[in-house]
Amino acid sequence: MEGAGDILDAAAGIVGARNLLTAPEDMAPHLREWRDLFVGKARAVVKPGSTAEVAALMRLAHARGVAIVPQGGNTGLVGGQIPIAEGREIILSLARMDKVRLVDAEGDAMIVEAGVTLQRAQDAADAAGRLFPLSLASEGSCTIGGNLSTNAGGTAVIAYGNSRDMCLGLEVVLADGRVWNGLRTLRKDNTGYDLKNLFIGAEGTLGIVTAASLKLFPRPRSRATAFLAVPDPHRALELLNLAKAEAGNQLTTFELMPRFGLDVVLRHAADSRDPLQGPSPWYVLLELSSPAEAGLEAAMERLAEKALEEGHVTDAAIAASLAQRAAFWRIREAMSETQRFEGGSIKHDVSVPVASVPAFLDAGIALLERLVPDCRPLPFGHLGDGNIHFNVSQPVGADKAAFLARWDEVNEAIHALVATFKGSISAEHGIGRLKRHLLPGVKDPVEMELMRALKATLDPQGILNPGAIL
Ligand code: FAD
Ligand code: ZN
Repeated sequence: MEGAGDILDAAAGIVGARNLLTAPEDMAPHLREWRDLFVGKARAVVKPGSTAEVAALMRLAHARGVAIVPQGGNTGLVGGQIPIAEGREIILSLARMDKVRLVDAEGDAMIVEAGVTLQRAQDAADAAGRLFPLSLASEGSCTIGGNLSTNAGGTAVIAYGNSRDMCLGLEVVLADGRVWNGLRTLRKDNTGYDLKNLFIGAEGTLGIVTAASLKLFPRPRSRATAFLAVPDPHRALELLNLAKAEAGNQLTTFELMPRFGLDVVLRHAADSRDPLQGPSPWYVLLELSSPAEAGLEAAMERLAEKALEEGHVTDAAIAASLAQRAAFWRIREAMSETQRFEGGSIKHDVSVPVASVPAFLDAGIALLERLVPDCRPLPFGHLGDGNIHFNVSQPVGADKAAFLARWDEVNEAIHALVATFKGSISAEHGIGRLKRHLLPGVKDPVEMELMRALKATLDPQGILNPGAIL
């Protein structure tokens, strides 16, 4: 292998010296993520401005055997975007590839480059009178390339699916610098293997996504949002089934939260207040959306009334203004960020079949209480998708480091429980570097062999994000 200088000179020749960062202070924002859970090292950060530049960089990396870690908005939660080995990797940031190439309102499709933030993609769709429905609390910073590479989920999956379901085609630079132009906008195309689905969710280990064609949807003209008190997750599941039966595909959000989660938000998030009068052990944030101007409020009122009558719900607040809707959403969105003010928390991003969520929560909470007496379970999230962020805060007054030292032990117990429900240990955040050691234990051996074979075919030298997933 040649010296670092040679390859960095060559990289600077491709992207221009300005777009090759090597000074520690310039690289710093790319080497740590917001929680400081992953802090890494790299030779350089390179910022190509076009697909041709990405291709030239990959030809160079391929020729010199240098490892590349793709990075989008650096909001990933499993460390896939941060190189943490000996610092020999180069981070390839897609941040400058931020063009919206096409918005085709009539065809309900748009083509954007990988570095376009989710928020900008949503805005571009909105400006054309359409909806791009992917919705995450990190949408101001995360990028379409990162969303697809992690197959991000979020709060609208119940209606629109994961990122994968919103993608019609991809442009990908392969490990050797070849460019696959798969930017089709077709709704039907059965001409052989569906390659885009290999790169979606691959976390940068099979290729570099440089652009994507995405599906657009009718823009809702009305929304109705309710904050509902439910006695327990079993009643919440009944409410979900009632909402599906009553509202069909107007149901766009169904999020479960425990009282402890609301308490944490009320304690630590400025301007937050309890939407309901008395306390309840659990809550549901439920939203209906419709392209029709009118009628949704009445539908929500009927749904809430019926749920109260049938005992799925004990109290209900329906947002009467945009400000109130925002306040309800703020409670849900602040639930992960405010948890750190309660000391250490051990996290899981798990899924089980939707109908099993209540039984899983009963068993999981009992298990936590046996393992760590006085711990404070905070399981919340996407009940409608069977995906729970099964978090737990340390006991009040306990030693934070001693509690966090039990991370692996607690993970192991919860993941074993998830396995008995035929669930997943990573529902939406991916494997990255955080869960790589767990993968062989939860995957079918044949599935692991197939994944390794695909990796070897697409990245024979192992230069694409080594240490992530496999
Ligand atoms: P990065 O963090 O930069 O990268 C993520 C992974 O993708 C890495 O492995 C990286 O190597 C790879 N990658 C990035 N860009 C490319 C590319 N162009 N080509 C190939 N590989 C690439 N996630 C959810 O699913 N649902 C949520 O509700 C959710 N909420 C969140 C809330 C907050 C406050 C935060 C901080 C994160 C949340 N996330 C959520 C996680 C995160 O936002 C998503 O995983 C997001 O999709 C990552 O996008 P990014 O651009 O930041 O990617
Ligand atoms: Zn989530």
